[in-house]
Amino acid sequence: MTELIKVIDLHKAFGDNQVLNGIDTTIQQGEVVVVIGPSGSGKSTFLRCLNLLEVPTKGSIIFENQDLTDPKIDIFKIREKLGMVFQSFNLFPHKTVMENICLAPVKVGLRTSDQAKENGMRLLNQVGLAEKADAYPNSLSGGQKQRIAIARALAMDPDVMLFDEPTSALDPEMVGEVLNVMKDLAQAGMTMVIVTHEMGFAKEVGDRVLFMDGGKIIEEGTPEQIFDQPTHPRTIDFLSKVL
Ligand code: ADP
Ligand code: MG
Repeated sequence: MTELIKVIDLHKAFGDNQVLNGIDTTIQQGEVVVVIGPSGSGKSTFLRCLNLLEVPTKGSIIFENQDLTDPKIDIFKIREKLGMVFQSFNLFPHKTVMENICLAPVKVGLRTSDQAKENGMRLLNQVGLAEKADAYPNSLSGGQKQRIAIARALAMDPDVMLFDEPTSALDPEMVGEVLNVMKDLAQAGMTMVIVTHEMGFAKEVGDRVLFMDGGKIIEEGTPEQIFDQPTHPRTIDFLSKVL
């Protein structure tokens, strides 16, 4: 096994609000890690620290042998390697689906325009939306928008994909199509960190589950351990409310 991300004593405060209170974990290459926990427990902040959308106040994140808390780090280079998918899609509304997908890889010089389009078509096929290349985001359903957002993140050839509640804004009938794309990605060996309330998906696809509360990892283990035999009272209490 190869360590891809090592998080050591990670702290994050917003003013007086201590949101992350010492997170320690290691994510292996190809691992699918699911993060669960109550609202406000710091799940999004943890994910955002991993690709430096938030700057940690203490601790380190070692990613591919670089310490991301080193002030000399090139934030933009790092973000290219950690793709992120948000609850709210964040597609560019005035650009077509293909333009959304091609923008970043062309801008940073990863691909020529022609190469980006060719790769874009491959990705659209992968998420089952090849026929939407010339459509605008507004004409798509929520599930389709989220599948495009995943394709757009993949267009940068990331080494890790971070998902922050990717299905929470979707109508129930569209959740499955997005989870299926994520399942395919996991099976193809992508390293993934996923914040989700989809416990069935977590059980089926997750290699490891982290339960967070109060800005700490309270309990972690395989999906079987966490869902079938949780040991910490707060995990038991949380699961009794969501399962
Ligand atoms: P979760 O994703 O588990 O619901 P969050 O990480 O979003 O939790 O939030 C944890 C805490 O951090 C909350 O109290 C929230 O108000 C606070 N917080 C998150 N982002 C910011 C921010 N940009 N500025 C100030 N406080 C924030
Ligand atoms: Mg959140």
